[in-house]
Amino acid sequence: MKIADVLRNKGAGVLTVSPDMTIAELVAGLVTRNVGAMVVVDATGPVGIVSERDVLRSLHSHGVDVLDRRVADIMTTQVVTCTPADSVDVLSGLMTTNRVRHVPVVDGGALTGIVSIGDVVKTRMEELEAQQEHLEAYITQG
Ligand code: AMP
Repeated sequence: MKIADVLRNKGAGVLTVSPDMTIAELVAGLVTRNVGAMVVVDATGPVGIVSERDVLRSLHSHGVDVLDRRVADIMTTQVVTCTPADSVDVLSGLMTTNRVRHVPVVDGGALTGIVSIGDVVKTRMEELEAQQEHLEAYITQG
């Protein structure tokens, strides 16, 4: 299965934050939108990614004062991306190798979606269920 198929099922929306937003505002956004990461976008386009893990790390290092700091202070700027033409297998490899659970999808320079490790697991489960149904039909119907 391709990333384009995953996006067709889940939608192409990407939740974004500004690098100037405070960590407190970021936390509120992550909680209310029920996501683990957001792409950081300024007037020029995507400039990074920030996840709940970055918030935890900075809380551990700097204490609660970090809530007043800016997203730009904790985001990751070297972003691992994929394209809609990549396979889910390739994406799983990227997530494992780079130890990330969120990968933005870029098509011709434009941000067209984001795939999380949860989306990958859901896709795998659906593939396995379809295979099982196919095998059961093959066995019972001959
Ligand atoms: P995650 O596992 O996605 O919650 O992210 C763990 C760490 O990797 C955090 O420091 C994120 O900022 C960073 N990260 C998450 N996704 C990406 C990505 N696609 N490219 C680069 N870094 C990322």
